[in-house]
Amino acid sequence: MIPISQPHIGKEEIDAVIKVLRSSHLTQGDVVAKFEKKFAQYCSTQYAIATNNGTSALHTALYAVGIQSGDEVITTPYTFVATANAILMAGGCPVFADIDSRTFNINPDSIEKCMSKKTKAILVVNLFGQPADYGAILKIAKKNKLVVIEDAAQSVGAEFLGKKSGNLADISCFSFYATKNIMCGEGGMITTNNEDYVSRCIKFRNHGQNTIQYHYSNLGYNYRLTDILASIGLVQLKKVDKITEKRRYLAKLYTESLANFTDVHTPYVDKSCTHVYHQYTIVLSSSHMRDAIRNALSRKEINAKIFYPSPLYSFNHLSKGKRLSQYKGIESIIHSTLSLPLYYDLQPVQVNKAIEIVSKTLRS
Ligand SMILES: *Cc1c(COP(=O)(O)O)cnc(C)c1O
Repeated sequence: MIPISQPHIGKEEIDAVIKVLRSSHLTQGDVVAKFEKKFAQYCSTQYAIATNNGTSALHTALYAVGIQSGDEVITTPYTFVATANAILMAGGCPVFADIDSRTFNINPDSIEKCMSKKTKAILVVNLFGQPADYGAILKIAKKNKLVVIEDAAQSVGAEFLGKKSGNLADISCFSFYATKNIMCGEGGMITTNNEDYVSRCIKFRNHGQNTIQYHYSNLGYNYRLTDILASIGLVQLKKVDKITEKRRYLAKLYTESLANFTDVHTPYVDKSCTHVYHQYTIVLSSSHMRDAIRNALSRKEINAKIFYPSPLYSFNHLSKGKRLSQYKGIESIIHSTLSLPLYYDLQPVQVNKAIEIVSKTLRS
């Protein structure tokens, strides 16, 4: 059985956890602080604030930039539901722009069409590991005095014009869920260069407490990461460039073999970006072809998966934020994308096995 993804857990990760367990300091402490420091260094940001998952990182960041009840936040309908749910958690209303069907990321032209007097921020996702068009997005934000938040859950290590994901917007959020490029089981991180945002994040993460314990400046949550999990994150961070390199190598194997088929679009990489292939996602010429390939792989115990089967505006609790009359970009690909197995410990022979089955189905 070849899964779609699999966490990389080496001896170093196991040893790191045991060391924390033996220290008997398990909750947020020195290890979390060290993880934050190293992560900020990696992203070239001044600050990093760890949280217990990516969704809480997004909720915290939205609070930090001042999103309140009734505020509108423009985002993409083609993402994991946590992106839009976090806006609701902060009291805001997600408003869905369309996507660029080549990059799968938010289409800057459609952002302007979604704007209203209530618009406060743009929550951008770097889907599947490729940064969105921050050149155009930041220009729109500046013109309209909007905050830009980067959902970097899938894009650790990716770059836009030589700048690292995590440093592409006013504030950025990462997830270290088990399937992400680097992981600690469950975990999150916020990066920013804005000191005011940092102090708001730190309070929000810990019940709204000031530096004085049992004094509360506002509503807050328990969104703290543990030293146990941060110890895994620290080890993974040391390996991040090696992990990315392997993912790019495996992606290249897929692309070299599949690019010649007219029924397949392999991932498009914009010239301003580097891609870290959180997912290797192809677009087939029809949903029928997509399903045929998925079934053929499944029969050989290879798990290909559909990220994501539906636009977020099609769900009841998010449907209010459907602003455009047409969503040509997302509608043109939503029924025909397929993500193929890709993870650090995946072997080239396993990739070739998947390629062989995909090719055979395309020829038949
Ligand atoms: C994984 C993910 C999240 C949520 O992160 P969790 O750690 O699972 O809470 C948010 N946005 C995107 C785009 C993700 O891929």
